[in-house]
Amino acid sequence: MLMEEERKLVAEYGRKMSTDGLARGTAGNISIYNPELGLMAISPSGLGYFDTTPEDVCVCDLDGKVADGTRKPSSEHGLHAAFYKEKAAHGCLAIVHTHSDYATTLACMGEPIRAVHYVIATAGTNEIPICGYTTFGTPELAEMAVKACTHGNAVLLANHGLVAFGKDLKKAYNIAGNMESLAKTQWQCMCAGKMNVLTKEQIDAVLVRFQTYGQTTSKPGELKGY
Ligand SMILES: [Zn+2]
Repeated sequence: MLMEEERKLVAEYGRKMSTDGLARGTAGNISIYNPELGLMAISPSGLGYFDTTPEDVCVCDLDGKVADGTRKPSSEHGLHAAFYKEKAAHGCLAIVHTHSDYATTLACMGEPIRAVHYVIATAGTNEIPICGYTTFGTPELAEMAVKACTHGNAVLLANHGLVAFGKDLKKAYNIAGNMESLAKTQWQCMCAGKMNVLTKEQIDAVLVRFQTYGQTTSKPGELKGY
C-alpha cells in the first residue's frame, strides 16, 4: 500500500479529531504530504472518521490525480495541495482542516484569532489571519486561504473553519487544538466585553522562551504543555 504509514496516521487522527470534539460527522479533513514522492495522503470525501480505514485514505498528487486508493479524495484536496505547493519548502508537510466550534464562530464573525493568551505562539505568530468567503472546495478558496496566510501556521476561512499546518501531523493537530481552545477564550472575552490582547513583542518573547521549554528544544507547534 503506497504511503502506508501516512495513511494509518490520517485514519488515526481523523478518529482523534472526532473524539476530541474538533469535528462532527464528516466535517473537516486531514492530509500528510510526502515531498519525495510528490504525493499526499488525504481523508476520503464524505466518509465518517470511524468508518475510515488506512485503505480508504486517498493518495493523490498535487493536481488531484489519484495515485492509490479506491475512494474519492476530500472535496478540499485542492486547498491542501495549494498549501503544499506554496509552503512545503517552509515546513508545511501536514494539514488539519476543521470546522471546530469556536474557531468557526470567530470565522463567522469575520474576526481573526488574536493574542488573548500566549498559546497563540504555538502557531508561530501573534495573530491568525482570516481570508474572505467563497464556496468550499473551489480553487478560489484555496488561493485566497494561501494568500491570507502570510505568517504563522494557521488561517481562518470566513464562514467556514480553520486550516492549521506543521512539519508533521502531530504538530498540525496540536496547533488546530490550541487555536480552537484560544478561539473559545477569545469568544468568552468578547462576550464579557473586555479583552486584553498581547503585543507582537510579548509574543516574540514567548517564541524565544519556547526554544528552551520542556525536555528538548521546542519550536512553534511543539509545545507539550503551557
Ligand atoms: Zn471545510
